[in-house]
Amino acid sequence: RQAAFQALKDQPSRTRDGVDINLMLNAGLALDMDAMDKTGAEGIGLFRTEFQFLVSDTLPKMESQIGLYRQVLDFAGNRPVHFRTLDLGGDKMLPNANKGEEENPALGWRSIRFALDRPGLFRRQLRALVRAADGGPLSVMFPMVTKADEFFEAKALLMEEIEWSAARGFQKPCDVRTGAMLEAPALAFTIGELASEADFISVGTNDLMQFFFAADRMVPAVSERYDFISRPALRFLDMIRQECERHQLPVSVCGEISSHPLEALCLIGLGYHTLSMPASGVGPVKRMLRSVDLSTFGPEFRAAIYESNADLRNEVLSIARIQKIALKDHG
Ligand code: PEP
Ligand code: MG
Repeated sequence: RQAAFQALKDQPSRTRDGVDINLMLNAGLALDMDAMDKTGAEGIGLFRTEFQFLVSDTLPKMESQIGLYRQVLDFAGNRPVHFRTLDLGGDKMLPNANKGEEENPALGWRSIRFALDRPGLFRRQLRALVRAADGGPLSVMFPMVTKADEFFEAKALLMEEIEWSAARGFQKPCDVRTGAMLEAPALAFTIGELASEADFISVGTNDLMQFFFAADRMVPAVSERYDFISRPALRFLDMIRQECERHQLPVSVCGEISSHPLEALCLIGLGYHTLSMPASGVGPVKRMLRSVDLSTFGPEFRAAIYESNADLRNEVLSIARIQKIALKDHG
């Protein structure tokens, strides 16, 4: 099976009816990078910068942050890299951080909330990203934005850091892109407001589904109880994609869900054409999408979501079987 995926590496990531799907990687360490060559992924859709903080006992100095980001950019070459700024708190606490007494850390002082309240730490990271870009393009996304103001504030800090560095003789990035991760359901209703300032949205389904179903992602007894392939979740994802289209805001999905062929089929059926995933998903998802004719799958899939009450997972599986879509684990 590995050999079969290997052969697919250089094949176009395109459906049978000619729709290009961008498959990107989720990464967090320098050693994740060679997976780009191994899988043929088109870039890094999500680089989790907090990993460098979590594997160390002390806060990484700015120089070592610059070093890591530069390594990543050098490896990627012309391929795009989207750096996600520090996503600490919740399930990713600094080893020596004062955890406080939060009863619900996933809902707590974390991600962009924490970063905006710790501007020294946050600005140092933004400065490191600007320095690492070294006059090349820079794409930065902010985690768990819940209201548009948080995005505006974070973007303003990035812009200040670009000016600050330029005033000290460092080159400005030739192209700056900023995106918001849509992980809190509230943001789905603020896409129009974001669209004036943001260049893209990346849907983080790991957190989004945890909040949508009110089911802790760290507790399988509850998280496995609610299926992503269900009408509420897919209608919500459909609404998000349509809102983004209405506001001409590019949107992608970077939760782990997109590495599973059946879930990825649902996402492309909804019109998501950029998926970022762990390296292990790229081969199986590419094999799946190359077997799909979206013009026949799409309408039947939408009917299953909007015009039926039967078990959705079974309906999608049966459409896939009839249309001979290659789902590794489901024939
Ligand atoms: C997500 O929440 O879907 C996501 C991609 O971010 P993380 O898993 O790092 O929280
Ligand atoms: Mg997340």
